Amino acid sequence: MCLKGKVAIVTGSTSGIGLGIAHALAGQGADVLVNGFGDAAAIDGLCQDIAARHGVKVAYSGADMAQPAQIEGMVAQATRELGRVDILVNNAGIQFTAPVHEFPVERWDAIIAINLSAAFHAIRAALPQMRERNWGRIVNIASAHGLVASVNKVAYVAAKHGIVGITKVVALETATSGVTCNAICPGWVLTPLVQKQIDALAERERLTPEEARMRLLGEKQPSKEFATPEQIGALAQFLCSEGAAQIRGASLSVDGGWTAQ
Ligand code: NAD
Repeated sequence: MCLKGKVAIVTGSTSGIGLGIAHALAGQGADVLVNGFGDAAAIDGLCQDIAARHGVKVAYSGADMAQPAQIEGMVAQATRELGRVDILVNNAGIQFTAPVHEFPVERWDAIIAINLSAAFHAIRAALPQMRERNWGRIVNIASAHGLVASVNKVAYVAAKHGIVGITKVVALETATSGVTCNAICPGWVLTPLVQKQIDALAERERLTPEEARMRLLGEKQPSKEFATPEQIGALAQFLCSEGAAQIRGASLSVDGGWTAQ
């Protein structure tokens, strides 16, 4: 229980990878502020589940990561309700695909706000108290698309490359302190965000769901297996441990070999 007494914010943790990370950190004893959208009763249920399974305190914020004032409010709420913020996981993210000349300006703005600017706003709100206590962990969920590109994902690829950049700057600015900042770069993980892309592919190419899943993996991920939220959670957990104290500004791939090609 190496995170007992610590408090973690995990943005976008009502689903997918964020939920996996919230469980992994709570599993090491951290109290957790859950954030994200969804059905109120379902969110209430998953917060109770995290609290009961791991014996930790759980708070919930419905802050919209596209709104800087709400992001500041979320950090203030975690500090007020859970006592402090030691760990910040910037995970909330959305996707939209279209060629650059057809990409809706409104989708560009939303993806840059949620997938990129939100991390800046959350870090600037949470970092002062981490610096004060000389301990903190910032984990940014980037993507294989933070390191390489694909067609039709101009906003997502720009935002995720930006996340890798923010990660390096914050790591350098905190390099002589007990605060570290790193990025995790997942390949395909089977979450609602990816299921939408599988459904679109199946419809476009008239494939069965299984054929579409295999086509998606086959194009990018040499292992031909999805990474899992639990695997991403396990790496986030390690980055929060003392063993990772000198991992700084790194972008760590969990991508089945995607970016080794
Ligand atoms: P998901 O759709 O399952 O979960 C996204 C979460 O973000 C949900 O909790 C949702 O409510 C929340 N969210 C969305 N918009 C929000 C907003 N405006 N304010 C607050 N919360 C908001 O997606 P996922 O696949 O778990 O993705 C999580 C992160 O991992 C994203 O940053 C994504 O880019 C990244 N990622 C995913 C994959 C993958 O294959 N699934 C690969 C690489 C990176």
